[in-house]
Amino acid sequence: MQTALESANRSPEAYFANREDPLHAAFKAKAVIHSGPGGMPLMGAAASEAFEASLDRPRSGKTLAYLHVPFCETRCLYCMFYQNPLDPSAAHAYADSLVKELALHAERAAQASGPVHAVYFGGGTPTALAPEDLRRVLEAVKKYLPLANDCEITLEGRIHNFDDARIEAAIAGGVNRFSLGIQTFSTEIRRSMLRVDDADTMIRRLEAIGRYDEAALVIDLIYGFPGQTAAVWENDLATAASLKLDGVDCYQLNVFEKSPLAKRIASGKLPSAADAAEKADMFARSVEFFTNENWRRLSNNHWGRTHRERNIYNALGKSSVDCLAFGCGAGGRLFGSSFMLERSLAAYHARMAAGEKPVQFLMRPGANWALLREISAAMESGAIDLSSFKVEAGGKPVDLDSIAKPVVDQWVEAGLLLRRGRHLIQTVAGQYWHVTLAQLLMRWIEGALAEAAPDERSVRAARFDMGAPGAMHRLRPAEHGAHAQRANREAAREAGDTNADRSV
Ligand code: SF4
Repeated sequence: MQTALESANRSPEAYFANREDPLHAAFKAKAVIHSGPGGMPLMGAAASEAFEASLDRPRSGKTLAYLHVPFCETRCLYCMFYQNPLDPSAAHAYADSLVKELALHAERAAQASGPVHAVYFGGGTPTALAPEDLRRVLEAVKKYLPLANDCEITLEGRIHNFDDARIEAAIAGGVNRFSLGIQTFSTEIRRSMLRVDDADTMIRRLEAIGRYDEAALVIDLIYGFPGQTAAVWENDLATAASLKLDGVDCYQLNVFEKSPLAKRIASGKLPSAADAAEKADMFARSVEFFTNENWRRLSNNHWGRTHRERNIYNALGKSSVDCLAFGCGAGGRLFGSSFMLERSLAAYHARMAAGEKPVQFLMRPGANWALLREISAAMESGAIDLSSFKVEAGGKPVDLDSIAKPVVDQWVEAGLLLRRGRHLIQTVAGQYWHVTLAQLLMRWIEGALAEAAPDERSVRAARFDMGAPGAMHRLRPAEHGAHAQRANREAAREAGDTNADRSV
């Protein structure tokens, strides 16, 4: 698998899975972050110019908006998304800048045209904003973004300090979905990860938020923490099911090399986190648990208990739709170009004070970008119909089903996928390995398209059953070279692909 992902290996065998134990050991290594479809990176002034040049182009189709709040009261041990300590006056000044940024391009076609279907406040800890600041920013969202009547507005955050005044400000401002990072109900593990509140506080506050009955209430759980045995995970699932939640997300713990958690494990202060096989069992148990509870499966990691939970932002976030972005460190996508805003708070404020959109980085779309993003989104949903993608290479239609067959047939044989009608459905093992499967599938298809049209450096791709705005673009050629590759990886991580994966 590593060979297939890291080289241009065109032998199907390089993509084959282990048939003996697909759940625990389908491949030698597991991809945990969606890689982007590549493209041409632009930095600084070039990025700003490219962004500015797109602003008078009207959007169409589904659209998301992402607002980033880069403050946390404390840093959790496993987190790689921590940016700045919470300081009330700094957060107040930041809310001023966010309001200005929302107003800055309110009249330009790229922001003003077409409805916005889901707004997501991520971080950081958006629930840490003071009630008055939450109110002001939400007012600006409603004033300066063309929200669809049924727009999903999510406020991500944590229970700590999410008091009644903040909840009420959020609800009054139009928030209709709370996504709260609980991670585990084990007080002992929470404390070892430097999470502040104990399990009883979490449960009491979740019950209190639920009593408002004004917004979907969704929590994140994480499996694989050091010390989180199967019994602890079982208790996490059972506690979630006992509460009046609208949905649950179950994520696996990723111990990033430079995280404080990795250092603490390496120094022996904490036991090891669960390995891939142990996490596979915990994932499989969550599937079995929520299936038995009759919750609806909304994606590989996400379940809804009630119809209030729609999960629009997360469902569309990996696809090719546009995502307007606001705030220090936010990532978005416009007409296929991914972009990231200044990550340094000082630089963000300085550029806002100068009346500039603080674009730091932009990646022009590579060849096949829309197709690859749609494949990635479909794989995340648990099923894919390759025949629904209308693709042309060298002016001729391309049948993706036939292209993928040599690899996909082996994955079916290995127990990662099932064929049902036109769809390839992931088994529980396939769901656990879905990011790896998606990356391998995209790599295989990209190689095949390049072979089908060696002289043509662009490929037309569309999926006719969805309203993706850029679906019929004539695409720019991909850039090559070490700098482009590195920047592609950075952009895939930083812009667009990770906003929805941040856990607070
Ligand atoms: S997990 Fe959330 S609250 Fe904790 S440091 Fe990271 S972003 Fe902040």
